[in-house]
Amino acid sequence: MLDFVARITFGNGKTLEFHGPADITKETTEAIVNAANSSLLGGGGVDGAIHRAGGPSILEECKLIVANINRLPAGKAVLTTGGRLRAKYVIHTVGPIYKVERRAPSPGHHSPQAEILASCYRESICLADDHAIRSLAFPSISTGAYGYPIHEAAEVAIKAVVPALSVAIHVQLVRFVLFSAADCDTYVRAAERMSRDHQMKSVIFERHS
Ligand code: ADP
Repeated sequence: MLDFVARITFGNGKTLEFHGPADITKETTEAIVNAANSSLLGGGGVDGAIHRAGGPSILEECKLIVANINRLPAGKAVLTTGGRLRAKYVIHTVGPIYKVERRAPSPGHHSPQAEILASCYRESICLADDHAIRSLAFPSISTGAYGYPIHEAAEVAIKAVVPALSVAIHVQLVRFVLFSAADCDTYVRAAERMSRDHQMKSVIFERHS
C-alpha cells in the first residue's frame, strides 16, 4: 500500500511528500519539526503531543537552550534530540501569530508574517542540513492556535520548502504531515496548483486518494 497522499519528485532526485491524516509524533523521518512557542517550555497542539510522546529529555534540552538564548524568536529554529520518539531529532521553530492584514502586500512581496512563516521552513531545513539529516517532517506551522489560514499557510510553506530542499546538501526528503484529511487536501491542492503554474521546475507529481 502507498503510504503517501501525494509526492513530488524533483529533477535532482529530491522528494517532497504530503501525508495525512497523520500524527507527526509517529514519524520515521530522521527529524521532525515542532511548532513551538518562544518559551520552548512546551504548550498545546503539536508541541504538547511531541513532548508527551518524546518524554522529559526534550524539555530538559529545551531548558538548556533557553538558559542561553532566553527565548526563541519567531522564524528561527533550534535542535534537540528526539527522546523516546522514533525520529532521532526534533527541530523546534516558532511560527508567527496570525493577524489580519490591514493592507494587502504589494504584488510579488510577502507580508511580514508570511516572511516569518517562510523563515521557519527555511531555517529548519538549513539546521537539519547542518546536522547532516537526510529526512525531515513538518506539521502545518501556525495554522492551529496561532490562527494562520491554512490556504495561505500552505502556499507560503511549499514556496519556502522547494528552494531550500533544492539547495540542501544532505536533506533529500521533506514530508508534510497533516493532522486532518482536509488540511492534507489543502496542501496537496496548493502543490498541484504550483506545479501546474510552472512554479516548480522538472517535477513528477503523483497523487492517490
Ligand atoms: P501553532 O501554535 O503553530 O498554530 P498548533 O500545534 O496549534 O501550532 O497547530 C499547528 C498544526 O499542527 C495544526 O494544523 C494542528 O492541527 C496540527 N497538529 C496538532 N497535533 C498534531 C500532530 N500530533 N501531528 C501533526 N499535526 C498536528
